Amino acid sequence: MIDLHAHTTASDGSLGFEELVAEAERAGLKALAVTDHDNVQSARKITGHEPLEVIPGIELSVFDHTLGYEDIHIIGLYINPEHAALNSKLNSLGREEQKKATVAKLNELGYSITYEEVKAKSQGVVGRPHIAMVLMEKYPAEFPKMADAFNKLLARGRPACIGRESGFGLGEAIDLIHSAGGLSFLCHPFIYPYDSEKLAKDFKKLGGNGIEVYYDYVANRPGVPITYDENDALKGKASALAGKCGLLESGGSDFHGKGKRGHQHLGEFGAPDGVLGKIKAALGRSEK
Ligand SMILES: [Zn+2]
Ligand SMILES: [Zn+2]
Repeated sequence: MIDLHAHTTASDGSLGFEELVAEAERAGLKALAVTDHDNVQSARKITGHEPLEVIPGIELSVFDHTLGYEDIHIIGLYINPEHAALNSKLNSLGREEQKKATVAKLNELGYSITYEEVKAKSQGVVGRPHIAMVLMEKYPAEFPKMADAFNKLLARGRPACIGRESGFGLGEAIDLIHSAGGLSFLCHPFIYPYDSEKLAKDFKKLGGNGIEVYYDYVANRPGVPITYDENDALKGKASALAGKCGLLESGGSDFHGKGKRGHQHLGEFGAPDGVLGKIKAALGRSEK
């Protein structure tokens, strides 16, 4: 099994890069992609880890006002994490500004929290889960669980959900991944409030390479309860979409580590080995 979607403490995961690699080795994975949100701090640490193949990746958040897509996630695989244009773009992303704006919005809504309190919860990049942690700590009766903070305030469409205006457009994200030598994949296509086929077609038209077919919506999206039978149906639907649009297939656990939503262990969910062969073949073609 391979896992092409995993996070470390450089974004919102609970394991550092070395711990994540050790867990992948323990789980006997053949390949692991490190795909932190909007940063390559952990991807830059990859050295030889044979026989495990560790793939440098990234998960970009896209806000495309022209096409009308908000917070679409695009994974880049086999990117060069040292690529200068990629790094300078990531440094200017404004993730911090977005989180500060979220805190200001919460203050406006009557919740007395500060950005410093949120920052203190994170070991790297500040994310919405860190804001949720502070809310849980200060308002335990209102937010006994992290999901409560998301459902009431922080999730898409809720009053304190602030989009990141300085994020990428869809085409820009795809182009940046390509210029850094990687291939681009549309992540978890069924979590968005958009028509998945239109989205996949727009993605392909702009040069996108693949779609995340092997994804565990049951574990990763507890707020939207579905069964594993329905999850299998979504896998079939994504695979059909890939075929129809001429996109590659990818997949992974979206692992965030122990104590986070989703799988608590690497190796519980992944994609079959054959998926990687096709990705590598396409990568070889794109390099010529
Ligand atoms: Zn995602
Ligand atoms: Zn992810």
